[in-house]
Amino acid sequence: MSETVEEENPNYVQCLICKRYFQYLNTIHLKTHGYTTLDYMEEFPGAPLQSRVMVEEHMNQMEDYVIPQFLIDQRAEGLREWWRSPAGLAKRKNMSEHPIAGRR
Ligand SMILES: [Zn+2]
Repeated sequence: MSETVEEENPNYVQCLICKRYFQYLNTIHLKTHGYTTLDYMEEFPGAPLQSRVMVEEHMNQMEDYVIPQFLIDQRAEGLREWWRSPAGLAKRKNMSEHPIAGRR
């Protein structure tokens, strides 16, 4: 049992579905809401999936893995549009078949 976390705490990210705070929103948690990571990103465009601290830690390692950094960056409007375009859809399909990220 932990205390309520302050909203802007960089160590936590809020799940916009259940309003609880986590270090990151993983597929297992999102699945409890019946969401995939991509469902969540589409419903809450620009919503972070990791705490800011974790984003910074992983920035150099996570380039093509699970969540592209540009989707977390709320300034990257154009790239999010690309993400919803046919080219982006193809990329998402490819990602969902990733041997690690896409495993169910
Ligand atoms: Zn949740």
